[in-house]
Amino acid sequence: MQDTIVLLPAPGMGHMISMVELGKLILHRYANKFSITILIATGSVGDSPGVTSYIQRVSQSNPSISFQSLPSVSVDTAPTRSRAAVAFEFIRLSLANTPHALQQISKSFTIRALIIDLFCSSALPIAKDLNLPVYYFFTSGAYALAAFLYLPKIHEQTIKSFKDLTTTEFHFPGMSSPLKATHMPEPTLDRDDPAYWDMLYFCSHLPKSNGIIANTFEDLEPKALKAITDGACVPDSPTPPVYSIGPLIAHSEEPAADDRNKGDRAPEDECLSWLDSQPSRSVVFLCFGSRGTFSVAQVKEIAHGLERSGQRFLWVLKKPLRDEKAKQTQNYTADFDLEGVLPEGFLERTKDRGMVVKTWAPQVGVLRKESIGGFVTHCGWNSVLEAVVAGVPMVAWPLYAEQHLNRNVLVNDMKMAIDLEQREDDGFVSGDELERRVRELMESEQGRELREKSWKMREIALAALGLASGSSSRALAKLVEALG
Ligand code: UDP
Repeated sequence: MQDTIVLLPAPGMGHMISMVELGKLILHRYANKFSITILIATGSVGDSPGVTSYIQRVSQSNPSISFQSLPSVSVDTAPTRSRAAVAFEFIRLSLANTPHALQQISKSFTIRALIIDLFCSSALPIAKDLNLPVYYFFTSGAYALAAFLYLPKIHEQTIKSFKDLTTTEFHFPGMSSPLKATHMPEPTLDRDDPAYWDMLYFCSHLPKSNGIIANTFEDLEPKALKAITDGACVPDSPTPPVYSIGPLIAHSEEPAADDRNKGDRAPEDECLSWLDSQPSRSVVFLCFGSRGTFSVAQVKEIAHGLERSGQRFLWVLKKPLRDEKAKQTQNYTADFDLEGVLPEGFLERTKDRGMVVKTWAPQVGVLRKESIGGFVTHCGWNSVLEAVVAGVPMVAWPLYAEQHLNRNVLVNDMKMAIDLEQREDDGFVSGDELERRVRELMESEQGRELREKSWKMREIALAALGLASGSSSRALAKLVEALG
C-alpha cells in the first residue's frame, strides 16, 4: 500500500492555501515517498466561497493530492457568540468524524502521520488513540509560536481577562520587548468567551505533538527559535522539535480569484503594468491582507497622508465598514463606489503618481516589481514573508489576530519595519502620522538602511531554501525522515 500523509487545515481559504502549499512542498521534494490526503471540514462555517473551485484546480494540477470532505456539521451562529467561538465549535464537531475518515483512508493507504492546524488540536488525542504521529503546521512565525506555547504560563499570571488589563504588559521568552495585554490575539482577550478556553486548549496541546512545522527560517527569527528549543516556552514538559521550513509562499492558484467577478480582474493586471512604468524603488504599496478594512473616516485620513507625503503609491482598498472600530470584513470582495469614500478630487489630484485598486491586488507579483520601494502592511504573517522574500522594507500597521505581536517583533527584534503610532483605544492612525512614516520609509537615511537590510534578508531567505545546504531544506529533509 502507498504511504500517505493526512493534512487537516482549519476552515477558511487562508488556512487551506497554507496547508496545500505545505503538501505541495513535501511532494515537490519527495514525490515518490508519499501521497497527500487533505481532510476538509464542511458545513455552515466551513464552506467559504471559492473553496470548491480552488480544490478542483489543485487536484487537477497535483494528482498526488486528494481531498476528502468530513460530514457536514452545523453550529449555532447567534450574533451573541463570538466568531471565534462559533468557528472553534464547528471545527470540534467536524473533527469528531476523523476516526471514521481515517479508517476509510487506511483501507487504501498506510497513514504515516497527521499534520494539523493549531485550531484542529482536538484531532490530536484522536490520532494518538490510533497510534498515529501528529505534527502541527504553525502558519505564523517563530515569535508567535513562542508566545502561543507560553500562553498557558501567561494564563497562570492573572485571573482577569486580558482586555481588562489595560496597563499590563506580558514578557515572552525570546522577545526583546513586552506585549500589551490588550494587544494579545483577539480570541484570547476575554475569559467570558468560550474561544479563550479553546485557545488555551490549542496552545497546551502544541507540546504534545511529535513536532511543529513553522513557516519561517532560522536566520529570520533566531532568538525565538532558540527560546523554543531551549525549552523556555514550555518549562514544565519537553518541547517537541521545530522544523523551520519556510518561507513558504503561495505562488499560484490564488485564493480569491474565483470569488471576484471577471470585471474586477482588469484593474489588478493594470496595476502591474502601471508599476512597470514607475521608477525603481519609488512606489509605496499599501495593502492590509485578505480582510483588513477601515471606516470611511480612516480611509480619508490615509488619503490625506498619502497626498501630503508626495510619494508614489499603490493602495488596495476594500469597502469601508460602518462600524468605526471594526478592522476586518468577511465580505472581502464587496463592490463599492471608490470616489464616494475618498476625499473629493483625491483621485484626480494624485492620478500622475498614485493608483487605488478596489478590494484585491496580486500582492506577491506587486511586491516583486522593481518599482516597489516600501510596504505599509497589517503585519499578517504571509504578507511579512512575501515582503521579506521580495526584499521590501515595511511600515507596520497591525489590525487583528496576532498582528500586534508580529509588529512588536518586526520593529524591535527583526528590525525590518518602521513603527506607526496608533490611537490607544481604537487603533486609528492620523493622516499626519502616515505621511511622516511613509516619508521616513521612502526618503530618509533610516529608510535607505532598512531597504538595504531587507535586500540582505531576501538573499538569506533564498539561501535558506537552497536545495543542498539551505537551513529550511535541511529542516524539511529531517521532517520527512521523521515521517518515515
Ligand atoms: N493578498 C493578496 N492581495 C490582496 C490582499 C491579500 O494577494 O489584495 C494575499 C497576500 O499576498 C497574502 C494573503 O492574501 O498571501 C494575506 O495573508 P496574511 O497572512 O498576510 O493576512 P490575512 O489575510 O490572513 O490577515
